[in-house]
Amino acid sequence: MLTIEINKEEFATAEALDRIRIIDAIYGARTIHLSSMQKTAGALMHMIYRAKSQANIVFIDTQLHFPETLAMRDQFQKKYGLDITTVQPDLTPLEQNQRFGTELHRYVDGQPLCCHLRKELPLFKAVEQFQAKALITGLMRAEGNGRTDVQPIGRDPRIGCTVFNPLFDWNSQQLESYIRENDIPIHPLYAQSFASIGCAVCTTPVKAGEDSRAGRWRHLRATNGSQPIYCNINYSDKSNLTRNTLKKS
Ligand code: SF4
Repeated sequence: MLTIEINKEEFATAEALDRIRIIDAIYGARTIHLSSMQKTAGALMHMIYRAKSQANIVFIDTQLHFPETLAMRDQFQKKYGLDITTVQPDLTPLEQNQRFGTELHRYVDGQPLCCHLRKELPLFKAVEQFQAKALITGLMRAEGNGRTDVQPIGRDPRIGCTVFNPLFDWNSQQLESYIRENDIPIHPLYAQSFASIGCAVCTTPVKAGEDSRAGRWRHLRATNGSQPIYCNINYSDKSNLTRNTLKKS
């Protein structure tokens, strides 16, 4: 039983690294950081390493990632000696295709189920494995869209965890500076015009002037007129469904 109460004001006004320390002091090893291997995840994994936090770093391997994403996981493990736990869906992509008779990600009405099976359920599995009570995400208000009002601390009722967003008040300049100053590895696809990196079959580069999420599920825009921008693994994205699509401009 956790008896120490979080001081929300103290958390919200602390430096990001101290926020990681505060979470660690209260939740210790009953904490999960869900790492996408993108820039915010790199900064947070570095802070977890610096703070000697007991937080468990979890990588959800949808088995449809770019090879570069898997290489990033291996690089972070090696460079910082991190013990990154990889969790996978119950079905392989082939088994899932056979079960549903199609590739779900190709269709507007199949994508939510695919993300549920390949991302959300593995998260639930990781929470159970670590008996987690706290979840650390890399969401930033500066990302815009449905994340403009991300709170420092939230709640995910699906998993019974307190959700901490230690970078909620960071902007991209702060993130880039932290990465540069600490020589943190950067996913190589950023250099190929990718702005947000998920499963290979659902992610494309963005063109100049496009929204940073425009490269996600672009193939669904042709049939839908709009496209999802979040997979909803983050509950605050899921609960903000009214803004959870990119409209055709
Ligand atoms: S991003 Fe695409 S392939 Fe990955 S889980 Fe979601 S729908 Fe499936």
